[in-house]
Amino acid sequence: MKTKRGSGVKRCMFLRSGIIIQLIINLIAFSACSQNAGRHESSINPQKMAVNKTEEQWKKELTPLQYNVLRQKGTERPFTGEFDDFFEEGDYSCAACGALLFHSSAKYNSGCGWPAFFEPADSLNMLFKRDLSYGMVRTEVMCAQCGGHLGHVFDDGPKPTGVRYCINSVSMVFKPSGQKKSPE
Ligand code: FE
Repeated sequence: MKTKRGSGVKRCMFLRSGIIIQLIINLIAFSACSQNAGRHESSINPQKMAVNKTEEQWKKELTPLQYNVLRQKGTERPFTGEFDDFFEEGDYSCAACGALLFHSSAKYNSGCGWPAFFEPADSLNMLFKRDLSYGMVRTEVMCAQCGGHLGHVFDDGPKPTGVRYCINSVSMVFKPSGQKKSPE
């Protein structure tokens, strides 16, 4: 009897220490999240995206590099993208689905090798996900319409926002704003 009771107490202590460890893990996770400039990780369900295509469809519609970046979370080589050293006036949209992402007025030269913006055109068009790949803690930015990988967002941007959206050129298409307005 004494042995059974003793093992029961040990099991209870083991369970309690497991709960405490889990609480500590949760606190660390929350702390890391709350340090992320107030951005909350989006709940992501690919099946509920407004634009939901099969991988075969995406492969047909996108170039190999676009597919690698947008669908497989690849990264174009730095200083090679079409919009890295590009500062014309206009709007940038998702290359996969056309959702509006950035205005050129928010673009700046960060020198990082990829197009950089200090704010999105509409944050509702973006999803944010914690990315622990390659031994780093980053925040991935995805298109909210199609789930396409765009790049990452960092807290080292210029005023007024202090954030830097570091986006792959190949994930975007540019539409110049130089067109004449249609007569009203
Ligand atoms: Fe998209």
